[in-house]
Amino acid sequence: MSINIQSVTKIYGEQKALDNVSFSINTGEIVGFLGPNGAGKSTMMKIITGYIPPTSGTVKVNDIDVIQQSLEVRKQVGYLPEHNPLYLDMYVKEYLTYVADIYKLHNKREQVDKMIELTGLTPEYKKVIGALSKGYRQRVGLAQALIHDPKVLILDEPTSGLDPNQIVEIRNLIKEVASEKTIMLSTHIMQEVKAICNRVVIIKNGVIIADNIPDNIGKVNTDNFIIEVEFADSISIDKLKAINGVVNVVEAKTNVWVIECSNDIRKDIFAFAVANNSSVLALQQKQNSLEEAFQELTKHG
Ligand code: ADP
Ligand code: MG
Repeated sequence: MSINIQSVTKIYGEQKALDNVSFSINTGEIVGFLGPNGAGKSTMMKIITGYIPPTSGTVKVNDIDVIQQSLEVRKQVGYLPEHNPLYLDMYVKEYLTYVADIYKLHNKREQVDKMIELTGLTPEYKKVIGALSKGYRQRVGLAQALIHDPKVLILDEPTSGLDPNQIVEIRNLIKEVASEKTIMLSTHIMQEVKAICNRVVIIKNGVIIADNIPDNIGKVNTDNFIIEVEFADSISIDKLKAINGVVNVVEAKTNVWVIECSNDIRKDIFAFAVANNSSVLALQQKQNSLEEAFQELTKHG
Protein backbone atom coordinates (compact mmCIF):
# COMPACT_ATOMS: atom_id res chain seq x y z
CA MET A 1 0.00 0.00 0.00
CA SER A 2 1.97 2.93 -1.22
CA ILE A 3 1.08 6.59 -1.53
CA ASN A 4 2.37 8.50 -4.50
CA ILE A 5 2.14 12.28 -4.58
CA GLN A 6 3.13 13.90 -7.84
CA SER A 7 3.47 17.67 -8.38
CA VAL A 8 0.55 18.59 -6.15
CA THR A 9 -0.39 22.26 -5.92
CA LYS A 10 -3.35 23.59 -3.96
CA ILE A 11 -4.49 27.18 -4.19
CA TYR A 12 -7.36 28.49 -2.01
CA GLY A 13 -8.43 31.79 -3.55
CA GLU A 14 -5.15 33.67 -3.48
CA GLN A 15 -3.49 31.46 -0.85
CA LYS A 16 -1.07 28.87 -2.21
CA ALA A 17 -1.21 26.12 0.43
CA LEU A 18 0.85 23.51 -1.48
CA ASP A 19 3.45 24.34 -4.09
CA ASN A 20 4.28 21.52 -6.51
CA VAL A 21 4.78 18.86 -3.83
CA SER A 22 6.06 15.40 -4.78
CA PHE A 23 6.96 12.46 -2.56
CA SER A 24 6.11 8.83 -2.04
CA ILE A 25 5.38 6.72 0.99
CA ASN A 26 6.18 3.03 0.80
CA THR A 27 4.31 0.11 2.32
CA GLY A 28 4.92 -0.23 6.05
CA GLU A 29 6.46 3.19 6.56
CA ILE A 30 5.36 5.38 9.46
CA VAL A 31 5.92 8.86 8.16
CA GLY A 32 5.80 11.92 10.36
CA PHE A 33 4.56 14.93 8.43
CA LEU A 34 6.08 17.77 10.36
CA GLY A 35 5.62 21.47 9.91
CA PRO A 36 4.62 24.69 11.62
CA ASN A 37 0.98 25.82 11.67
CA GLY A 38 -0.22 26.85 8.25
CA ALA A 39 2.49 24.82 6.46
CA GLY A 40 -0.03 22.80 4.43
CA LYS A 41 -0.19 19.53 6.39
CA SER A 42 -3.97 19.27 6.69
CA THR A 43 -4.45 20.35 3.09
CA MET A 44 -2.13 17.55 1.90
CA MET A 45 -3.98 14.99 4.03
CA LYS A 46 -7.41 16.09 2.80
CA ILE A 47 -6.16 15.66 -0.75
CA ILE A 48 -4.68 12.21 -0.09
CA THR A 49 -7.95 11.03 1.45
CA GLY A 50 -9.97 12.41 -1.46
CA TYR A 51 -11.90 14.99 0.60
CA ILE A 52 -10.73 17.94 -1.47
CA PRO A 53 -9.20 17.96 -4.96
CA PRO A 54 -5.78 19.44 -5.67
CA THR A 55 -5.62 22.46 -7.98
CA SER A 56 -3.15 20.44 -10.05
CA GLY A 57 -1.11 17.25 -9.70
CA THR A 58 -2.02 13.67 -8.93
CA VAL A 59 -2.19 11.46 -5.86
CA LYS A 60 -2.40 7.69 -6.03
CA VAL A 61 -2.99 5.31 -3.17
CA ASN A 62 -1.85 1.87 -4.17
CA ASP A 63 -2.04 3.00 -7.81
CA ILE A 64 -5.64 4.18 -7.42
CA ASP A 65 -6.22 7.80 -8.38
CA VAL A 66 -7.80 9.63 -5.43
CA ILE A 67 -9.81 12.02 -7.60
CA GLN A 68 -11.08 9.59 -10.19
CA GLN A 69 -11.82 6.79 -7.72
CA SER A 70 -12.31 8.56 -4.40
CA LEU A 71 -14.81 6.01 -3.06
CA GLU A 72 -12.44 3.14 -3.76
CA VAL A 73 -9.64 5.02 -2.01
CA ARG A 74 -11.78 5.73 1.04
CA LYS A 75 -12.39 2.01 1.47
CA GLN A 76 -8.67 1.47 1.78
CA VAL A 77 -7.76 4.50 3.86
CA GLY A 78 -8.53 5.30 7.49
CA TYR A 79 -8.60 9.02 8.25
CA LEU A 80 -8.57 10.91 11.51
CA PRO A 81 -9.28 14.50 10.46
CA GLU A 82 -7.91 17.53 12.23
CA HIS A 83 -10.09 18.52 15.24
CA ASN A 84 -11.70 15.04 15.05
CA PRO A 85 -15.28 16.05 14.24
CA LEU A 86 -17.67 13.67 16.02
CA TYR A 87 -21.41 13.54 16.66
CA LEU A 88 -21.45 14.59 20.30
CA ASP A 89 -25.07 13.48 20.86
CA MET A 90 -24.43 9.90 19.76
CA TYR A 91 -23.42 7.07 22.06
CA VAL A 92 -19.95 5.65 21.40
CA LYS A 93 -21.22 2.27 20.27
CA GLU A 94 -24.07 3.77 18.28
CA TYR A 95 -21.62 6.04 16.44
CA LEU A 96 -19.18 3.25 15.62
CA THR A 97 -22.09 1.09 14.39
CA TYR A 98 -23.17 3.99 12.19
CA VAL A 99 -19.65 4.23 10.72
CA ALA A 100 -19.57 0.45 10.17
CA ASP A 101 -22.89 0.81 8.28
CA ILE A 102 -21.39 3.44 5.98
CA TYR A 103 -18.63 0.99 5.05
CA LYS A 104 -21.27 -1.75 4.65
CA LEU A 105 -19.22 -4.09 6.82
CA HIS A 106 -20.71 -7.59 6.92
CA ASN A 107 -19.16 -8.40 10.30
CA LYS A 108 -20.42 -5.12 11.73
CA ARG A 109 -21.09 -6.03 15.38
CA GLU A 110 -17.88 -7.98 15.63
CA GLN A 111 -15.83 -5.10 14.24
CA VAL A 112 -17.47 -2.52 16.52
CA ASP A 113 -16.73 -4.65 19.59
CA LYS A 114 -13.20 -5.28 18.39
CA MET A 115 -12.54 -1.55 17.93
CA ILE A 116 -13.95 -0.71 21.38
CA GLU A 117 -11.59 -3.26 22.87
CA LEU A 118 -8.57 -2.29 20.76
CA THR A 119 -8.81 1.43 21.43
CA GLY A 120 -9.42 0.97 25.16
CA LEU A 121 -12.98 2.33 25.03
CA THR A 122 -14.49 -0.53 27.04
CA PRO A 123 -15.06 1.52 30.24
CA GLU A 124 -16.70 4.36 28.25
CA TYR A 125 -18.59 2.80 25.39
CA LYS A 126 -22.03 3.31 26.94
CA LYS A 127 -21.59 7.07 27.20
CA VAL A 128 -22.55 9.80 24.76
CA ILE A 129 -19.49 11.11 22.96
CA GLY A 130 -20.09 14.61 24.32
CA ALA A 131 -19.53 13.30 27.86
CA LEU A 132 -16.09 11.88 27.06
CA SER A 133 -12.72 13.47 27.86
CA LYS A 134 -10.59 14.71 24.95
CA GLY A 135 -8.37 11.62 25.22
CA TYR A 136 -11.34 9.25 24.94
CA ARG A 137 -12.83 11.25 22.07
CA GLN A 138 -9.53 10.79 20.29
CA ARG A 139 -9.83 7.04 20.82
CA VAL A 140 -13.30 7.16 19.24
CA GLY A 141 -11.72 9.02 16.31
CA LEU A 142 -9.09 6.32 15.97
CA ALA A 143 -11.71 3.57 16.28
CA GLN A 144 -13.73 5.06 13.38
CA ALA A 145 -10.53 5.39 11.32
CA LEU A 146 -9.63 1.73 11.93
CA ILE A 147 -13.02 0.05 11.78
CA HIS A 148 -12.82 -1.12 8.16
CA ASP A 149 -9.30 -2.45 8.71
CA PRO A 150 -7.66 -0.06 6.25
CA LYS A 151 -4.09 -0.70 5.20
CA VAL A 152 -3.35 3.04 5.04
CA LEU A 153 -3.88 5.39 7.99
CA ILE A 154 -3.83 9.17 7.70
CA LEU A 155 -3.83 10.84 11.12
CA ASP A 156 -3.99 14.64 11.31
CA GLU A 157 -2.40 15.82 14.57
CA PRO A 158 -3.66 12.80 16.53
CA THR A 159 -2.31 14.00 19.89
CA SER A 160 -2.99 17.71 19.65
CA GLY A 161 -4.82 19.13 22.65
CA LEU A 162 -4.23 16.08 24.86
CA ASP A 163 -2.57 16.09 28.28
CA PRO A 164 0.84 14.36 28.67
CA ASN A 165 -0.61 11.05 29.87
CA GLN A 166 -3.17 10.95 27.09
CA ILE A 167 -0.43 11.75 24.57
CA VAL A 168 1.57 8.71 25.69
CA GLU A 169 -1.53 6.51 25.54
CA ILE A 170 -2.49 7.60 22.03
CA ARG A 171 1.10 7.26 20.78
CA ASN A 172 1.22 3.72 22.17
CA LEU A 173 -2.06 2.92 20.52
CA ILE A 174 -0.75 4.13 17.16
CA LYS A 175 2.40 2.04 17.57
CA GLU A 176 0.24 -0.95 18.47
CA VAL A 177 -1.88 -0.78 15.32
CA ALA A 178 1.05 0.17 13.09
CA SER A 179 2.14 -3.31 12.08
CA GLU A 180 1.16 -4.15 8.51
CA LYS A 181 -0.07 -0.61 7.96
CA THR A 182 1.27 2.37 6.10
CA ILE A 183 0.87 5.45 8.26
CA MET A 184 1.20 9.16 7.71
CA LEU A 185 0.68 11.35 10.75
CA SER A 186 1.00 15.09 10.99
CA THR A 187 2.32 17.00 13.94
CA HIS A 188 4.09 20.22 14.74
CA ILE A 189 6.07 18.53 17.50
CA MET A 190 9.51 17.18 16.62
CA GLN A 191 9.59 14.82 19.63
CA GLU A 192 6.40 13.14 18.45
CA VAL A 193 8.09 12.11 15.24
CA LYS A 194 11.06 10.68 17.12
CA ALA A 195 8.68 8.69 19.35
CA ILE A 196 6.59 7.08 16.60
CA CYS A 197 7.97 7.42 13.09
CA ASN A 198 10.67 5.83 10.99
CA ARG A 199 10.75 8.67 8.51
CA VAL A 200 10.08 12.37 8.66
CA VAL A 201 8.98 14.73 5.90
CA ILE A 202 9.12 18.41 6.81
CA ILE A 203 6.91 20.92 5.07
CA LYS A 204 7.05 24.70 5.31
CA ASN A 205 5.05 27.25 3.31
CA GLY A 206 3.69 24.46 1.12
CA VAL A 207 7.15 23.16 0.12
CA ILE A 208 8.93 20.01 1.33
CA ILE A 209 12.19 21.14 2.92
CA ALA A 210 13.49 17.87 4.39
CA ASP A 211 12.95 14.14 4.08
CA ASN A 212 15.04 11.89 6.28
CA ILE A 213 15.15 9.42 9.13
CA PRO A 214 14.17 11.09 12.43
CA ASP A 215 17.63 10.68 13.95
CA ASN A 216 19.14 12.88 11.28
CA ILE A 217 16.64 15.68 11.71
CA GLY A 218 17.86 18.50 13.86
CA LYS A 219 21.46 17.62 13.08
CA VAL A 220 21.67 20.45 10.60
CA ASN A 221 24.96 22.17 11.13
CA THR A 222 24.71 25.95 10.83
CA ASP A 223 28.11 25.93 9.16
CA ASN A 224 26.70 23.88 6.30
CA PHE A 225 25.68 25.43 3.01
CA ILE A 226 22.21 25.07 1.58
CA ILE A 227 22.06 25.16 -2.20
CA GLU A 228 18.94 25.03 -4.30
CA VAL A 229 19.38 23.78 -7.83
CA GLU A 230 16.99 23.16 -10.67
CA PHE A 231 18.10 20.64 -13.27
CA ALA A 232 16.63 20.37 -16.74
CA ASP A 233 16.07 16.64 -16.28
CA SER A 234 15.28 14.18 -13.54
CA ILE A 235 18.37 13.23 -11.56
CA SER A 236 19.14 10.20 -9.41
CA ILE A 237 19.13 10.99 -5.71
CA ASP A 238 21.90 8.48 -5.09
CA LYS A 239 24.18 10.16 -7.60
CA LEU A 240 23.55 13.55 -5.99
CA LYS A 241 24.33 12.16 -2.56
CA ALA A 242 27.59 10.79 -3.91
CA ILE A 243 28.97 14.25 -4.68
CA ASN A 244 31.81 15.06 -2.32
CA GLY A 245 30.67 17.33 0.53
CA VAL A 246 26.95 16.56 0.23
CA VAL A 247 25.31 15.91 3.60
CA ASN A 248 21.65 15.62 2.63
CA VAL A 249 19.42 16.18 -0.39
CA VAL A 250 15.72 16.54 -0.87
CA GLU A 251 13.69 17.04 -4.03
CA ALA A 252 11.59 20.07 -3.07
CA LYS A 253 9.72 20.23 -6.37
CA THR A 254 10.02 18.27 -9.58
CA ASN A 255 13.72 18.52 -10.61
CA VAL A 256 14.38 21.16 -7.94
CA TRP A 257 16.73 19.93 -5.25
CA VAL A 258 17.68 21.39 -1.89
CA ILE A 259 21.19 20.22 -1.10
CA GLU A 260 22.84 20.56 2.29
CA CYS A 261 26.62 20.43 1.96
CA SER A 262 29.66 20.94 4.16
CA ASN A 263 31.39 23.21 1.64
CA ASP A 264 30.41 25.34 -1.34
CA ILE A 265 29.89 22.77 -4.11
CA ARG A 266 28.27 25.06 -6.68
CA LYS A 267 31.03 24.45 -9.24
CA ASP A 268 30.75 20.70 -8.68
CA ILE A 269 27.02 20.91 -9.36
CA PHE A 270 27.65 22.29 -12.85
CA ALA A 271 30.22 19.57 -13.53
CA PHE A 272 27.76 17.00 -12.18
CA ALA A 273 25.01 18.22 -14.52
CA VAL A 274 27.32 17.95 -17.55
CA ALA A 275 28.52 14.50 -16.51
CA ASN A 276 24.89 13.36 -16.29
CA ASN A 277 23.85 14.83 -19.66
CA SER A 278 21.70 17.48 -18.05
CA SER A 279 22.02 21.18 -17.41
CA VAL A 280 21.45 23.59 -14.57
CA LEU A 281 18.43 25.86 -15.05
CA ALA A 282 18.81 27.73 -11.76
CA LEU A 283 21.22 27.65 -8.86
CA GLN A 284 21.27 29.65 -5.68
CA GLN A 285 22.75 29.50 -2.25
CA LYS A 286 19.94 29.68 0.28
CA GLN A 287 19.59 31.01 3.74
CA ASN A 288 19.70 28.05 6.03
CA SER A 289 15.93 27.58 5.90
CA LEU A 290 16.25 24.09 7.37
CA GLU A 291 17.87 25.42 10.49
CA GLU A 292 15.24 28.11 10.70
CA ALA A 293 12.44 25.57 10.34
CA PHE A 294 13.93 23.29 12.96
CA GLN A 295 14.21 26.14 15.41
CA GLU A 296 10.60 27.02 14.83
CA LEU A 297 9.51 23.41 15.25
CA THR A 298 11.55 22.80 18.37
CA LYS A 299 10.16 25.97 19.89
CA HIS A 300 6.62 24.54 19.56
CA GLY A 301 7.70 21.22 21.11
P1 ADP B 1 -1.46 23.06 8.56
O1 ADP B 1 -2.37 21.89 8.66
O2 ADP B 1 -0.04 22.70 8.28
O3 ADP B 1 -1.55 23.96 9.76
P2 ADP B 1 -3.28 23.92 6.44
O4 ADP B 1 -3.19 22.90 5.38
O5 ADP B 1 -4.46 23.87 7.34
O6 ADP B 1 -1.91 23.94 7.29
O7 ADP B 1 -3.24 25.38 5.77
C1 ADP B 1 -2.27 25.76 4.82
C2 ADP B 1 -2.57 27.18 4.36
O8 ADP B 1 -3.77 27.21 3.62
C3 ADP B 1 -2.76 28.17 5.50
O9 ADP B 1 -2.22 29.41 5.10
C4 ADP B 1 -4.25 28.25 5.65
O10 ADP B 1 -4.65 29.50 6.17
C5 ADP B 1 -4.72 28.07 4.23
N1 ADP B 1 -6.05 27.43 4.14
C6 ADP B 1 -6.36 26.20 4.62
N2 ADP B 1 -7.66 25.89 4.36
C7 ADP B 1 -8.17 26.96 3.71
C8 ADP B 1 -9.45 27.27 3.16
N3 ADP B 1 -10.46 26.40 3.22
N4 ADP B 1 -9.60 28.48 2.56
C9 ADP B 1 -8.58 29.35 2.48
N5 ADP B 1 -7.34 29.12 2.97
C10 ADP B 1 -7.13 27.94 3.57
MG1 MG C 1 -3.54 21.28 10.21
